[in-house]
Amino acid sequence: TKWVYGFGNGAAEGDAGMKNLLGGKGANLAEMSNLGLPVPPGFTITTEVCTWYYDHDKSYPAELAAEVEAALADIGRLTGRAFGDRTHPLLVSVRSGARVSMPGMMDTVLNLGLNDETVKAMATSSGDERFAYDSYRRFIQMYGDVVLGVDHHSFEEILQEVKDEAGHVLDTDLSAAELAGIIERYKDLVAAELGRPFPQDPMEQLWGAIGAVFGSWMTHRAQTYRRLHDIPASWGTAVNVQAMVFGNMGETSATGVAFTRNPSTGEKALYGEFLVNAQGEDVVAGIRTPQDITEKARIEAGSDRPSMERLMPEAHAEFVRICDRLEAHYRDMQDLEFTIERGKLWMLQTRSGKRTAKAALKIAVDMAAEGLITEKEAVLRVEPSALDQLLHPTIDPKAERNIFVTGLPASPGAACGAIVFTSEEAEQAKAAGRKVILVRVETSPEDIHGMHAAEGILTSRGGMTSHAAVVARGMGKPCVSGAGALRIDYRSGTVSAGGKTLDKGQVITIDGSTGQVLIGEVPMQQPSLSGDFATLMTWADGGRRMKVRANAETPADARVARDFGAEGIGLCRTEHMFFDGERILAVREMILSATEEGRRAALAKLLPMQRNDFVQLFEIMKGLPVTIRLLDPPLHEFLPHSDAEIAEVAEAMGVAADKLRERALELSEFNPMLGHRGCRLLVSYPEIAEMQARAIFEAAVEAGRQTGAPVVPEIMVPLVGLKAELDLVRGRIDAMAKAVAAETGVTIDYQVGTMVELPRAALRAGDIAESAEFFSFGTNDLTQTTFGISRDDAASFLGTYQQKGLIEQDPFVSIDRDGVGELISIAAERGRKTRPGIKLGICGEHGGDPASIHFCESVGLDYVSCSPFRVPIARLAAAQAAL
Ligand code: ADP
Ligand code: MG
Ligand code: MG
Repeated sequence: TKWVYGFGNGAAEGDAGMKNLLGGKGANLAEMSNLGLPVPPGFTITTEVCTWYYDHDKSYPAELAAEVEAALADIGRLTGRAFGDRTHPLLVSVRSGARVSMPGMMDTVLNLGLNDETVKAMATSSGDERFAYDSYRRFIQMYGDVVLGVDHHSFEEILQEVKDEAGHVLDTDLSAAELAGIIERYKDLVAAELGRPFPQDPMEQLWGAIGAVFGSWMTHRAQTYRRLHDIPASWGTAVNVQAMVFGNMGETSATGVAFTRNPSTGEKALYGEFLVNAQGEDVVAGIRTPQDITEKARIEAGSDRPSMERLMPEAHAEFVRICDRLEAHYRDMQDLEFTIERGKLWMLQTRSGKRTAKAALKIAVDMAAEGLITEKEAVLRVEPSALDQLLHPTIDPKAERNIFVTGLPASPGAACGAIVFTSEEAEQAKAAGRKVILVRVETSPEDIHGMHAAEGILTSRGGMTSHAAVVARGMGKPCVSGAGALRIDYRSGTVSAGGKTLDKGQVITIDGSTGQVLIGEVPMQQPSLSGDFATLMTWADGGRRMKVRANAETPADARVARDFGAEGIGLCRTEHMFFDGERILAVREMILSATEEGRRAALAKLLPMQRNDFVQLFEIMKGLPVTIRLLDPPLHEFLPHSDAEIAEVAEAMGVAADKLRERALELSEFNPMLGHRGCRLLVSYPEIAEMQARAIFEAAVEAGRQTGAPVVPEIMVPLVGLKAELDLVRGRIDAMAKAVAAETGVTIDYQVGTMVELPRAALRAGDIAESAEFFSFGTNDLTQTTFGISRDDAASFLGTYQQKGLIEQDPFVSIDRDGVGELISIAAERGRKTRPGIKLGICGEHGGDPASIHFCESVGLDYVSCSPFRVPIARLAAAQAAL
């Protein structure tokens, strides 16, 4: 096995296709080298070494040391330097890099190879003593923290003390002599903490750093991250060792990060930040405020600090050329890291850039228009669940804005909530059902849970590429970062700006699209679904096989569903139409009547209301299919509970309250979800089915007259387990169809089908299909009945199952392909055998879950039905599943 792959000087042993072996960073460094771009030479120790390391008691393959030494010698040849050399010492960075970029891994160590001797050589060869000592100071601090485990605060304290004593504000103000003093104190600190001196041998330093990278693969943080993101431990991480280039060599040197397009808006314009005379992650650390790369961005931001375009025109021009080249090569927006050493540009990283949903959409549509990708690729580029972000509210433009402070528009969308200052408070508030905005100086990986819990994030420090900004965009949370005028006092629990002070718990609204922070709750607006969104959706619809319907019963929901592009209603839950005021009274009367006569009287009151509901739905849906499920009330939800409720129903029915209470008691069940519900109720009281069928047919006649579009209602019988149940109910429906046709002179085309939500129905689908013209998989109940788990009670233990790795995903969120999925496949197959072309759909929550939608495509369902707000997600997911 080959354990080490070199790159540099216009060539490489690896390429971008080798991410599994070289990790994302290593594979792309190799690719950039192959393209002839200026990449400092280096080598990648493969992910297989990481696996070997853990399989062999944390030791290395025997050949590794020799391969590393040879690769190091190659870097030496290309740079004219050597490890520990007294005149031209080689310095390297050691960088981790798994297949996917992963927080929780070891931080990069820069300037490795420096020691008391080589630092002098660096000072002489560069002619810049300050630079050499600055680098050594950084190296001891990073290596001490990341590899040796000395708390970085201890280093920072020393640094701050020296700056204070000398009256400096910035690190860049420190002189060479002051830096040399800091270095001595750093070394003393390390020796005191570890009981041995800071390692001076570059080879020892290198193996220490390599070991730290592999060690970081199994840290608690890394393991947690992997579990949350389904990354197997077996992937391992690679280690990249690369010759240093220096952005801290004075005013003609710099370091920066950039995106080839704006990651927030998707605008096709180079976008990024850089810092003069800086190294590594100074840009994202938020210690100094970075400057814009292009003049255009500088002018837009209204900044008076010069852009890179102005300060370093040649390096800038080359950078722009490289950006164009990389974007065209990877055919995607790139996220780049670079360094300029005395005017010369070096590329240090490229990868597909993370972006907001809005940007993902715009970039996909733009790139297809530019001919860089096909329309089909554009459809595949946008993560369906990310569309959720676009459905986020924005601040009503007419709203009054009482501005507290303005920061950077780091992640779009508006959010409102009470101020909290810690992630713990954010979590507690969320658990208590309160909305909060997490306000911090800056965020770190330890704040992820708090950021999840908060509605939005506000920081006083850090740029557009700071931790808070990047993570918030990934989560789709609104974020305002770098609001420099904010003074946050964690201790007193206050935050102030411009002479105003707010306390913890006070409500603010952040506008992540403008960077404004407003006092109080501000009216919001729903986003419009035109432009790029509409374009991509049209492309998606062109590639889609399955239809997408919505679960809706109210006219308002039905309208939203139509606006979002629903192609019909897949589930109209008639019991949901009965919950309000007058209606629930009539429903209670019906349920509680001891006689058929009483029930018919109550049903007669409900008939006109039902008919009117259906007329409205049919009119809104204009001839699109509407599946109406006959009454499936969880009885207990309808029974009167309080004395007042019982008295009210008793009066309406003209019976004694005591009698009624008795009857209610009779009807109460131990296990309502498995009780007298669904078609069982219709079997006991067929008059209910008759009333509902009449309401449907009469409404179809009326709506047909008004709109001219013939309605084909699909009447769905719930909770069928036996064909005989369906036959009994179907008999009443068919008879009612005839009756209404005779009365009105209009014959309505209709279908009768069933919801498949019991394992028995799935298994007996062959029989049932003789009487059913369609099946709709009710996967909420089917999941409950297949697992024997009550969804409402699952929360107390399913979380533990996930934590202990017994199940990967909550089966109520994403369909259990192995069990529930097999039942669906069986039902589809047996149903089709009896009735070729039987219409098949799904109407559980899973109908809006992208992974479940892929499953539905694989079984060949005709449509998915989901809540109105998820319709766009389902349209896109269905297209991706088909493409
Ligand atoms: P991360 O995975 O956290 O982005 P990187 O390995 O990319 O970590 O390193 C972070 C930063 O360190 C880079 O953006 C770059 O500025 C700096 N860096 C890494 N290697 C070198 C190098 N060989 N020369 C100069 N700077 C480097
Ligand atoms: Mg980092
Ligand atoms: Mg990086």
